[in-house]
Amino acid sequence: MKVKALSPQLSVSPQLSLDDVRQAQEAGFKTLICNRPDGEGPDQTTFVEIQRLAEELGMQAHYQPIISGQMDDEHAAEFGRVLAEAETPVLAYCRTGTRSTNLWALSQAADFPADDLLRAAQQAGYNITSLRGRLLAANPNSNGTATAEQSAPDVEAQVWDVLIIGGGAGGIAAASSLLARDCSLKVAIVDPSENHYYQPGWTLVGGGVFQPETTQRRMKDVVPSRCRLIAEGVESFQPDEDKITLCNGQRLAYKALVVSPGLKLNWEGVEGLPETLGRNGVTSNYRYDLAPYTWKLVQETKGGTALFTQPPMPIKCAGAPQKAMYLSAHEWEQQGALKNIKVEFNNAGGVLFGVKDYVPALMEYIERYGIDLAFNSNLVAVDGPNKRATFEVTDGDGKVSRVEKPFDMLHVCPPQIAPDFIRVSPLAAESGWMDVDQYTLRSTKFENVWGLGDVISAPNAKTAAAVRKQAPVVAENVLRHVKNKTNVREALYRGYGSCPLTVERGKIVLAEFGYGGVLEPSFPRFIINGTRPSRVSWWLKERILPPIYWNAMLKGREWLARPVYEKE
Ligand code: FAD
Repeated sequence: MKVKALSPQLSVSPQLSLDDVRQAQEAGFKTLICNRPDGEGPDQTTFVEIQRLAEELGMQAHYQPIISGQMDDEHAAEFGRVLAEAETPVLAYCRTGTRSTNLWALSQAADFPADDLLRAAQQAGYNITSLRGRLLAANPNSNGTATAEQSAPDVEAQVWDVLIIGGGAGGIAAASSLLARDCSLKVAIVDPSENHYYQPGWTLVGGGVFQPETTQRRMKDVVPSRCRLIAEGVESFQPDEDKITLCNGQRLAYKALVVSPGLKLNWEGVEGLPETLGRNGVTSNYRYDLAPYTWKLVQETKGGTALFTQPPMPIKCAGAPQKAMYLSAHEWEQQGALKNIKVEFNNAGGVLFGVKDYVPALMEYIERYGIDLAFNSNLVAVDGPNKRATFEVTDGDGKVSRVEKPFDMLHVCPPQIAPDFIRVSPLAAESGWMDVDQYTLRSTKFENVWGLGDVISAPNAKTAAAVRKQAPVVAENVLRHVKNKTNVREALYRGYGSCPLTVERGKIVLAEFGYGGVLEPSFPRFIINGTRPSRVSWWLKERILPPIYWNAMLKGREWLARPVYEKE
């Protein structure tokens, strides 16, 4: 736990785990303040989980989530009020600790000289000089006079050829593809996460095939060696000035910007869900630390009702909610328990899978496992202790009614939205997703900005497989811009995405398709017929795709990912 003291009453830290909460209690902290909205990262412990444990240990916990780039004076005043009334010492946290530090400094500005606050933050390892103007303005006793200019944050001297936001599948693949084409480029990746995750592996963790650790690597070990890692969160974009602002207030300048921060898992979008995740039989393969709980529940469940849910589109890996269900049902079938378990798939949408060619094979498994299908049935609330889930069900006339269902096991795929700092940025479409041309992946609003991965507005399936095809396209088009090669044709992405549907342990229906649901198989039909369950596809998913991800896609080796070009 990286705790830094700002004052005798207050310390700050990056995101807490449940172990950290125990350590905080042992260290004597009485109150926790969470300044990070739930769902910002794929391994983020939700506030209610933190709060539950904190209260069990005799501490108080407050939730004051701040969206990056949206902190105003009222937020600071509220933080000051909570701090003044809290039992001390207090530990405040966000993703890195910077938001909490900023809130503290602003909340104390009327009482303490700006330089004292800046020095305390500096000693704790947080550079918040960008707040200097606001701190001076708030305190007439501070030396100097505040002007708007003084609040202008520092801009790092370096102008990056390419600045990449997010070190997930998209960010790392794009950086490697760029450097594979031109190793002289000055490229930086901005990402505050300590770890990088191979999320496609989580289905197999939930199915008892992979150990969770095999899906996680340290961020600094996957960032290409010729690329700088800036371990901070991005707060906001100033695309008219070719700059971004980090959560610590520092600004970075670029010639080209690549945006790939993934999406936000909106756990709070289902009432009662954050409170019960990881207990009461409620699980999800969509979080690193919860996927093992899925496998535990599958092994423990011998009878009763198992509900699997799918929220409205778009979501990442649209097949993942079903994959969890088929692997669970197959395990129960093997154990002889399936006859005692009622399995039900509650899907907010109206079809089993969006591309009709794959539906017949999936329906064979629905029948084999005796799964009940409930379409247009959207999970809206969970009562964990009483093991009841509430769905909004839309009938053929569009009438919506609420239906409550009991469960023994509930696997939830959470609603998914664009990250907060993207939704409020000038890069966003009305939908909140980053607005890009679906073929060139260039921003529709700013000519030196590109996007890839889950964050973009393009109507492809949000998958790592899509990223594998998108990264070379972005690399080609960014290079064309940075090197001013306007005579070179633009590379185009045709919407490829892939979804290996794990219909049983050992067999997969390998869905591969582009824009408009056009089938785009990677292999000849005699090797893999994607519309039929296949052992070769399982072997591909279990044995071949992970090394391809780590050793090819993340290293700029573009296997089966050659871009196409205009008029080709
Ligand atoms: P991510 O890989 O999520 O990375 C986003 C990065 O951005 C993170 O490192 C994060 O820390 C960083 N970031 C966020 N906010 C900020 C900020 N403010 N500043 C800086 N950095 C920030 N795909 C497949 O192809 N096949 C599958 O079988 C498959 N199965 C899946 C099963 C599950 C259960 C899940 C959850 C996903 C699955 N996927 C699958 C989908 C795939 O993992 C994603 O589509 C892919 O990871 C998207 O890559 P990305 O770079 O857009 O986002």
